[in-house]
Amino acid sequence: MALIVQKYGGTSVGSVERIQKVAERVQATRGQGHDVVVVVSAMSGETNRLIDLAHQVSPQPDPREYDVLVSTGEQVTIALLAMALNARGCRARSFTGGQVHIRTDSAHTKARIVEIDEARVRRELEAGTVVVVAGFQGVDEDGNITTLGRGGSDTTAVALAAALGADECQIFTDVDGVYTTDPRVEPNARRLDRITFEEMLEMASLGSKVLQIRAVEFAGKYSVPLRVLSSFEEGPGTLITYEEEDMEQPVISGIAFNRDEAQLSVRGVPDRPGVAWHILGPVGEANIEVDMIIQNVGADGTTDFTFTVHRNDYERARAILEDTARRLEAREVAGDNRIVKISLVGVGMRSHAGIASRMFEALANEGINIRMISTSEIKISVVVEEKYLELGVRALHAAFGLDQAPAA
Ligand code: ADP
Ligand code: ASP
Ligand code: MG
Repeated sequence: MALIVQKYGGTSVGSVERIQKVAERVQATRGQGHDVVVVVSAMSGETNRLIDLAHQVSPQPDPREYDVLVSTGEQVTIALLAMALNARGCRARSFTGGQVHIRTDSAHTKARIVEIDEARVRRELEAGTVVVVAGFQGVDEDGNITTLGRGGSDTTAVALAAALGADECQIFTDVDGVYTTDPRVEPNARRLDRITFEEMLEMASLGSKVLQIRAVEFAGKYSVPLRVLSSFEEGPGTLITYEEEDMEQPVISGIAFNRDEAQLSVRGVPDRPGVAWHILGPVGEANIEVDMIIQNVGADGTTDFTFTVHRNDYERARAILEDTARRLEAREVAGDNRIVKISLVGVGMRSHAGIASRMFEALANEGINIRMISTSEIKISVVVEEKYLELGVRALHAAFGLDQAPAA
């Protein structure tokens, strides 16, 4: 007998029929004698609908009230699932995040879980109850409702699994595992049997939304056995694992991409110490996160400075930059919010040379111009024009043989 945490995403609870299917699966797991905690998302489209409503009322909704609003989607699905389970004769009770003491900081709309008092959940499990918990939400010290950022139900599930010492945390979604890249963009993408935490973390932070970044961080930190599975069909899914010595690693595990990027440049900045600080300081003060940064080698006493930000922050960052450029007496500010970032990820990169040049060659062969490049130990990212996203991903997928199973 094991303790299993199962999480079902929006599509998996997207209709009454699907909620019944989830109930069936939960009951089957319970029938095997396991204790089960279920975390659910809002029905698909619901969170977007709520966010849209908020923006109709106010262009910049009050963050506290925004969280009160957007957390309601999950309250609907916990109740429906618990009802469906009870109707099948499987004892279940629903709980909001606050009711099971998921305590977060007060950073509304992107709160972090700081503590879970799992006593309540344990009592219910001991009584033989399936515990159904609302994903994506918690409460802060003062009892205010908070939310954990888009995709946050994954993190609720992993955090509960960690707090309870669960035997496995199963993330049920609309794909049957983690693929070499998003199968919606590359139909030849292949399901991976396993992927390391490290690689999954890179994939998630570089844009693969199959798991929320914080969920992967949490799972790695607390050694939570994590598996991504389909809620529609049976299968082994993908296990997120620690790197094993004897595991033959493919050089590249996957390709991630991010459509939410925008690029900004200040050109002709007088090249003096402190340029980067003067340019990025005000951007940081405005709470705008900067991703990639390039400063060109100075010529004729001036330099060009380029960086990327989230597309939602583009206008704001640009206004700040115009101001900075005037103060620094730079020549001009330029920007483009129709760019994307494509990244190759693989722990095997550590021991293999020539990956970057193979990547650049594959893109060049398709006539794709690279705007920016950034590398780290296990990833290489490029910024390209948005229109080249699909072509670029597919070209790289083929160039690195990702559609073929690795040689045994
Ligand atoms: P859920 O609502 O269940 O949380 P998400 O939409 O958040 O589901 O995540 C599943 C989606 O992630 C898939 O439908 C797929 O399009 C996308 N995705 C992106 N990258 C990958 C990848 N490498 N492997 C699998 N799915 C991916
Ligand atoms: N419902 C929330 C969202 O759409 C949380 C989640 O589904 O994980 O972002
Ligand atoms: Mg998700």
